[in-house]
Amino acid sequence: MFGASLGSFCSAYIERYQQGVSIVKGRSICPSCHRPIKGYDLIPVLSFIVLEGKCRFCGGRIPWENFVLEVLGGVTALGLFFVYGLTGEGVLYLFVLAALLCIFLIDMRTMDIPHALNIAIFVLGIFSGFLFPHISWLDRGIGLVAISVAMFLLTLVVPHAFGGGDVKLMGAAGVLLGWQALLVAFFIGLVIGGAQGVYILKVQKRDKKTLFAFGPALAIGIAISLFFGHNIIDWYIRLLF
Ligand SMILES: [Zn+2]
Repeated sequence: MFGASLGSFCSAYIERYQQGVSIVKGRSICPSCHRPIKGYDLIPVLSFIVLEGKCRFCGGRIPWENFVLEVLGGVTALGLFFVYGLTGEGVLYLFVLAALLCIFLIDMRTMDIPHALNIAIFVLGIFSGFLFPHISWLDRGIGLVAISVAMFLLTLVVPHAFGGGDVKLMGAAGVLLGWQALLVAFFIGLVIGGAQGVYILKVQKRDKKTLFAFGPALAIGIAISLFFGHNIIDWYIRLLF
């Protein structure tokens, strides 16, 4: 239920950010008739099924995305609960994944990463410092500047190479992951972003100046590295020596 509610919150946040409306202002409204949705119709997952994805008043369609994100949130929370139990680690992972999902969808659609989400990753990174002491504060401090400063310098040479949001995201992710796992996250992001670039140039035949959002690729890289970063590093070192 908690995960589904968080998914529901994400879908509301994403929708309101795209429309430029504050998340704290006002209640959830029907996208068709703009009437406020009753409290008893806001139960994640169940309400959508009971109302068959329609507004109680006007019968207008409630977007599928709400339902998908609620189910995804519930399933993710359940999965994390089975692996980590009701621990700080499990809860932290759930919030990080929620923030990354919002970054993924919002950046894909608006080419913009909300400042609040980068701050959320940064704050979760600080929490992670207390929950996961095996990643030292020094490693996290180096992570804060390692990739972000390099990206920032690159944007000075190549304008629009990265957006400001991408740079801040990699700084915040560095605090969360430590610099070692951050490198893994960045590498995965580059591979996915590169594939995306090739697709845009070759398949969609757009010209070289086409800008595309790099945030979604970075978000996937951070999510993978969050769970498997240190396994990937171990595997890579064994491969070398
Ligand atoms: Zn309605």
